[in-house]
Amino acid sequence: PCTMTPSPPPLLPIAIIGSGPHALALVCKLYEESVDPFEENPANAKLFRQHDGKVTSKYKGLKALKSETRGAIRKKLKVTQGRRAEMRRISSHIRVFDTRGTWCAQWDQQFKNLGITVLRSALNAHVDPTSWEALEVDLNERKDRERETVEFHELDADKSYRGPFQLPTSRRYRQFTQQVIRRYGLQDKVEKKTLVKIRKSEDHFELEFETGERVFAKNVVLGCGPLCVPHWPEVFSAYDKERCLVRGLLLHSCDYMKMSPENLDAVLGAKRRIVVVGGGLTSAHIALSLCSRSLQTNVIFVARKPLQVKPFDIDSRWMGTQRNIQLAKYWSIRSPEQRFKLINETRGGGSITPVVWENLQEARERQQLTLLEDTEIVDLEVTLNAAPWNVILNTGEEYAADLIVVSTGTETNVHHDPLLSQLVEESTALYQDRFPLVTEDLRLNVEENVFLLGVYASYQLGPGALNLMGARAGAARISKALKQQLEW
Ligand SMILES: Cc1cc2nc3c(=O)[nH]c(=O)nc-3n(C[C@H](O)[C@H](O)[C@H](O)COP(=O)(O)OP(=O)(O)OC[C@H]3O[C@@H](n4cnc5c(N)ncnc54)[C@H](O)[C@@H]3O)c2cc1C
Repeated sequence: PCTMTPSPPPLLPIAIIGSGPHALALVCKLYEESVDPFEENPANAKLFRQHDGKVTSKYKGLKALKSETRGAIRKKLKVTQGRRAEMRRISSHIRVFDTRGTWCAQWDQQFKNLGITVLRSALNAHVDPTSWEALEVDLNERKDRERETVEFHELDADKSYRGPFQLPTSRRYRQFTQQVIRRYGLQDKVEKKTLVKIRKSEDHFELEFETGERVFAKNVVLGCGPLCVPHWPEVFSAYDKERCLVRGLLLHSCDYMKMSPENLDAVLGAKRRIVVVGGGLTSAHIALSLCSRSLQTNVIFVARKPLQVKPFDIDSRWMGTQRNIQLAKYWSIRSPEQRFKLINETRGGGSITPVVWENLQEARERQQLTLLEDTEIVDLEVTLNAAPWNVILNTGEEYAADLIVVSTGTETNVHHDPLLSQLVEESTALYQDRFPLVTEDLRLNVEENVFLLGVYASYQLGPGALNLMGARAGAARISKALKQQLEW
């Protein structure tokens, strides 16, 4: 009798889950051959010096290290265009899977639903791997810098921040990202699939998608973004969130940002009395976008602490051309506990931008918005009145509400993350509380080829891991490791 042993499944070299800015930055960097002299990695000897476990920056700021000329950056872009065949070869080793099926769809959706017209980050934050100045160069080339950027002056007198002092409009940032996607020929790269299970086998991973389809991959990169695990204040623990959502009574900002505009319209309907719970930029954007829907809308914005107004979500020293100095200090800290302490201090809780603060004041003047700082919801009652909620505050005040939108952030917790939690139990990875102590090349642990993008890579990337700056930094590290392993 002829006994045939089944042939082993073909192994995909790289499976990337998620197609947000972080995954896009990685794929571009995998396709890109030019070297970025500003790569944020302690091993980048052009920028950093390593000695006895300490890292120091060779320069006082990135401007001190002569920036590339516009011509040099343009040249890099041209070289890339001439590499189509090479890029096709690389492409055959990589598959990108995302529930949404197109690049940065989650980003676009959240900007649309929240009505965000300008980025919070400056011109140096984007996904183009060629240079941190690429967006600036593009704006200059197309001569639309004045029209498509917004200047900010809050940090003019701050010696620790020396620019850039312009923020791109959301529209122009999107246009630039689309250009980058086209430059690398990535338009059709994302496959619309939702990953539901990851199983580790001997030398590979088995990925199972919602459809039941399986893919076997040698390396898996998780770039599923920060909206996976919503955080709810204790007072909501008694409520079945799914049922409340279905009945249009309660929304988390994660839902608000993930929903299609049609579904969001259906939930918001003609609701006029809305309580927004939060204190960070997302909650403020939600409050403003609700006000903008109708002049009859009345928003009660409940914030546990006084709102903090600052240009960036992290300390400004981490956002500008002196970022390398902060990174060197961060990498010199050996203790994971101390690193995360610094991250917490640098992020310093939710904050809103000066422009959004002004917009909130305008909404208050129009009597559309009541801002209650230092205030918490202590109890909730479901009523049979026209307004289904009675919201009771620690101040003793009570408000009738048609809808409550909770925007108290997301939980970064490797143990609760829908995909990562499947891997952590069997893995020998180390943790500091909720964060994995990822390796220098951003793997979950040294033995496994699971790479983490975004906030879960904070241990190595520092406080900006979640943001666009972190996207480029993470992409550089992971692409280097993958290129070495696959001998590209
Ligand atoms: C409102 C808002 C504004 C922001 N503005 C800025 C800014 O101006 N500047 C800045 O630097 N940073 C900003 N950030 C922070 C950060 O850059 C963004 O959150 C960014 O979208 C993160 O990118 P990402 O690739 O990690 O995740 P996402 O953009 O969230 O993408 C993750 C993708 O993974 C997919 N996915 C998740 N689970 C699965 C699964 N199981 N199977 C398949 N696909 C899956 C999702 O569909 C999604 O498309 C902002 C964040 C928010 C929330």
